[in-house]
Order: sequence, then structure tokens, then C-alpha cells
Amino acid sequence: MSATVPFPLPTPEIHVWVAYLTARCNFACDYCIQKPQMVPGQRRKPWGRYQELTGRQWVDALNAFPVRPVHPLILTGGEPSLHKDFAFIASRLEGYELDMTSNLTFDIDAVAAEMRAHGKQFATSFHTYHPKFMAPEKWLEQAERLRDSGLVKAPVFSMVNLQRFPHFRDDEHDQNLKKLVELADRRGLVYQFNEFRGTHMGEAFNRDHKYRIECTSAWVNIDPEGSIFNCQYHLTERKNAFGKITDIAHCRPLPAMGEFFGCTDFGYCDPCHENSGHGAFRDKEGNVFRRTSNDARVYLKWMQPAAIRDVSRRYFAQGDLAEAEHALLAAIGKEREAGAESGETWADLGVTLYESGKKKQALAALLHAVEAGITRTETVASALVVARELGLQDHAKTTILRYVPAQNLARIEQALAAVRPEEPAVP
Ligand code: SF4
Ligand code: SF4
Repeated sequence: MSATVPFPLPTPEIHVWVAYLTARCNFACDYCIQKPQMVPGQRRKPWGRYQELTGRQWVDALNAFPVRPVHPLILTGGEPSLHKDFAFIASRLEGYELDMTSNLTFDIDAVAAEMRAHGKQFATSFHTYHPKFMAPEKWLEQAERLRDSGLVKAPVFSMVNLQRFPHFRDDEHDQNLKKLVELADRRGLVYQFNEFRGTHMGEAFNRDHKYRIECTSAWVNIDPEGSIFNCQYHLTERKNAFGKITDIAHCRPLPAMGEFFGCTDFGYCDPCHENSGHGAFRDKEGNVFRRTSNDARVYLKWMQPAAIRDVSRRYFAQGDLAEAEHALLAAIGKEREAGAESGETWADLGVTLYESGKKKQALAALLHAVEAGITRTETVASALVVARELGLQDHAKTTILRYVPAQNLARIEQALAAVRPEEPAVP
């Protein structure tokens, strides 16, 4: 490159440089945001296949640059340690502060030894626990090994906060996470919970429409083949490359810090980058905003009613009654559409409404469940209890008796009276 041509890659701190060494991962998290259309419960891996640059190509290209970024260069993926030359790259880059993101499945001692042998250390690193793919004991052991290895000056250990997103949790997830938190607390590992940035403009990350906006997203994102992009969407779609690190003389300059440029792809942006606070958007009215809203409800549209009922039970268990109710209504809507209404959903709705203090609606839902064939003791008893509180026993009993034999109803009433003897069963 001629001395008169300015170096095309910006280096201020807002311009984070990211080297995506691979687009591969040995895990397949359903909440992985490195591909659109996150369907809860559906395993997904990062986005594509590449002719990956070799370690030597990465090192030769990056070391030849006449400048270095202010912010540490992030080695990431996919899972960057799957690159066959990961340790070589990390230990041979000169003049770069390094950061990495990794799921901690790599051989820490081997990478640490290689780094030490070359007098190198990562400045920072970021490691998230993915409960469906690693036992908590194993992850903690790896985290402690990394923390104590000297490989990274300031590692960050984290978990994705899916409290508001039970769509992406199941019992295995919850049990492993709980265990990990207990073990980490007991053993003194410092960790944090990260915000889940899965939605875009209040919608699922589903890339179903895009429009024009002004954007300042000027990341220096380098894909596994060395091509440079300003944002993760353009990187994953291999669209609008600025050039290649292996041919920097022909690279177009990236936008300057804070400079707005037009983009017609808004709506397809990667939700994590988009919500990172690095960069801003300006809509056609001239409003500038940095983050888009994060609405958990959008994921329900991808889910089957039975899975939505599980989501609502998780919400219920954690006391998010409004979300539990919303989920159940969504499930009922879907069941109706499919012509397969389930009394179980109505029974859950009845209990949820009751806990929310909506007793009349609760009674209606419970009686509807009975009408739909849910005549087990628990549901009938719940309906009777709510009816008694509302003074609507006769109405409730008339409905119930259409579906439950009289002697069964009498038995349930006797049982209720035995539990609460001060309120005798209604004759
Ligand atoms: S470990 Fe990370 S990159 Fe791999 S599938 Fe899970 S979220 Fe995606
Ligand atoms: S609007 Fe979205 S897709 Fe377009 S450049 Fe900005 S971040 Fe990338």
C-alpha cells in the first residue's frame, strides 16, 4: 500500500475489531444468535462453511498492518478454538491486545503453554456457560483452570439470563444452571449473568422484513476467509465486503466513528451487535436510537401449544403470572386454529387467573376445562373452591354435574369440607 493512502481500517475504541476464526461450533444452542430464526427447542449451529485462512495467513496479514486497534482484537467464531491453528494465531500476533470468546471446551493447558512460550497473554476473555452441552462440574473445572492458568489477565465467566425467556429453557437447563451457581458460589468463582439479546425491534430474530435506515455500525468484522464487513449481518451474508485482510491495499475505508450511512437491510441486523451500544440508528423522522426493544413474547409464535404450556408453567413457577397468562392464551389461540382445543390448557389458565386475583375468569376457565373433559379431582376441586369464594356454587355444580357423576362430585366436596371444616360443603 502506498504511503499516501490512509490505512482503511479505523482504530478508535468504538471500532471493535473481531476476527471470526471459524463459523463452526461444537455446541448447538437453540438461542444461538449467529443465525436467524431462533426456534425455541430447535438446536442450531453458527452460520456457514468457509475456506478458513490458515494460522500463518492470519498472523502474516494482521502483523503486517501498520496500525493496531485501540480496543483488544477479539478472537471469536463460532468457537474459535476449533480453528486448527488457534494457539498459533493467539501466540504469534504481535502488538495486539487480545480478547477471546469461547465455550471453554479447548485444552487450556496446551494453549496456555504455547502462549507462555511466546511471552503472550490474553488481556480479556468471555466465556458463557451453555447448560445443555456441558455438565456444570466440567465447565467449572475448566473455568477455574483458565482463571488460574495465567492465560488471560481478566477473564469473564458468565451465564445467559433466560429468566424472561423460559422458551429456551427446560428442566435440564434449569437444573444444570442451578447446580453451577451453587458450585461456583461455594468455590468462589466470580461470574455474571448476561442479558439475552435475541429479539429485534420487538420481534423475533426472523428476518422477515427489512427497510432503510441510517446506521453507524462500523465494526471491523473479519470473516474466516479474511473478508472485512461493518456488521455481523453483512458478515454472515457475505454482503458488502470492504476488502480482505490478505489484500489490504485494495480494501475500501470503513466509515469513521459515529458517521451515519444509509443501509436498506435494517430489520435483518444481528440483534447482539445491534443492541451492543456500539453504534446508533437514525430513522426517517430523524430519531436516533441505540437499542431496540427486547420482547420475550414474540418467540411464542414459533412454538407448538404443548411447548407454550411448558413456558407458561415456568413463568408461573417464577411468579410471572401476566406472562404465564399471555402464553396460555397464545396456546389456546393456536389450538383453536388447529381445531384441537385442549382442556389442559384451560385448566392451567384457570389456576393462573386465580393466582392473579381474576377469580371470575378463573372459574370460567376451570369450568371450560371440565367441559373439555378435564374431570380429575384437582380441576373439579379448584372450580368448586373458586365458585365458593364467588358465591357461585350452584352455577358451578350445575355445569360440573353434566360431566362428572354425582357421587364423584359429592366425594370431592366431602374432601374439601374435611380440609376446610369451617366451610361445610354446599348441599
Ligand atoms: S456455544 Fe455459542 S456459538 Fe456455539 S452454538 Fe452455542 S451460542 Fe452458538
Ligand atoms: S442497519 Fe443493520 S444490517 Fe445495516 S449496516 Fe446497520 S447493523 Fe448492518
